[in-house]
Amino acid sequence: MLNRRKFFTAAGGVIAASTLLERPHIVEAVPKAATELGKVKIRDVKTASVRLSYYNAHLVKIITDSGLYGLGEAFNRSGVVDHINGIKRQIIGQDPLQVDYLWHKMMDAGIGQGSRSGSLTGAISGIETALWDLAGKILNVPVYVLLGGKFRDKLLIYHDTGSPNTVAPKPWVQEAKRSKAYGFKAMKFDLNRFRGERWNRTLSSQDMKAWVKILEAIRAELGPDFPLGVDLHWAYNTREAMRFVQMVEHLNLWFLEDPMPPENADAFARLTAVSKVPIATGENLFTRQTFRPYIEKQACDIIQPDTQKCGGLLEMKRIADWADLYYINMLCHNMCSPVGTIAAGHACMSIRSFVALESDSVELPYWQDIIKRDGPIYKNGYLEIPNKPGLGIELNEEVCRKHLGKGSGFFD
Ligand SMILES: [Mg+2]
Repeated sequence: MLNRRKFFTAAGGVIAASTLLERPHIVEAVPKAATELGKVKIRDVKTASVRLSYYNAHLVKIITDSGLYGLGEAFNRSGVVDHINGIKRQIIGQDPLQVDYLWHKMMDAGIGQGSRSGSLTGAISGIETALWDLAGKILNVPVYVLLGGKFRDKLLIYHDTGSPNTVAPKPWVQEAKRSKAYGFKAMKFDLNRFRGERWNRTLSSQDMKAWVKILEAIRAELGPDFPLGVDLHWAYNTREAMRFVQMVEHLNLWFLEDPMPPENADAFARLTAVSKVPIATGENLFTRQTFRPYIEKQACDIIQPDTQKCGGLLEMKRIADWADLYYINMLCHNMCSPVGTIAAGHACMSIRSFVALESDSVELPYWQDIIKRDGPIYKNGYLEIPNKPGLGIELNEEVCRKHLGKGSGFFD
């Protein structure tokens, strides 16, 4: 333990004494940083791809010369592991406490390969997450403390439900019941599976009426106030989206996600200005640069970054804090193992405008067992973040090894 005199010397008067005395975890962090800075060096970055439902969770492990390691998860699509192996040389030999510096080093080194978007950003996001885990372990604080501290004690989870292969409402209601049985207190349904015309971004009145019937049945099951979102997966044009939001005005939808393709902020701004249903978008945007027009034009009501895709934990916080200047709230898109989910959760704890975090794969029988745990990961529809150093999680090696993706080793 540190006495007060030593502490004030170490802190250098940067942080007000009253704040520190109210928050003893910060008191512990500051002098520890002074002693640990520059002492740990990154030796290597390795991956293990664990099979989930129809994609692999690309887990990232940063190995150091101190014996400590950092764990993260990169975005789940192809090419990401190759990108991690290519970009890791930018951080080998470096001090893992320099998280944002190393992030910029990787992003700049990867410009020619597309580091501002796509799989390379997903790869860098996973490395960045593992750097935070490592920094938290070195400094002996949870990652959310490093990101500025917490605004809440637990995170609302919204369940991305299954999408029955029918326009008959009953199976959709069954999905809502199943989701409620898991304990979820918020959910969203993917509704764009059925449409007569695939290519011209239109939707027949008949299809649209069928969807409204599905949503009416789900709403009747869940009650008038249950948070119920709809995802249209980028399928329609602006006018069709305007028509749809008018047809569902009576359903008190929580949000409508991605009714149009994700590239045109002006089109989204046009829809958002007239829609009584809150419009959400962002899972296919990368870094502050591609979020910029959506925020500056107030082209959505809810920004929806994916932590492991948009650039990582700090980049998501920067995006959300910027959107908050326009009073745009944040939903956190998420398609991860418990590693990426809890990592995203640390960032969500530290973001003022956070609303809810997505659950994608909890139905998978071994999803929760990818990490060691005492009880269920979600409790009554909420996620509680471990109050331990770093991300506060450990992998269950036996389960991970049993479900490795094709051709993947376990951090070999
Ligand atoms: Mg979506």
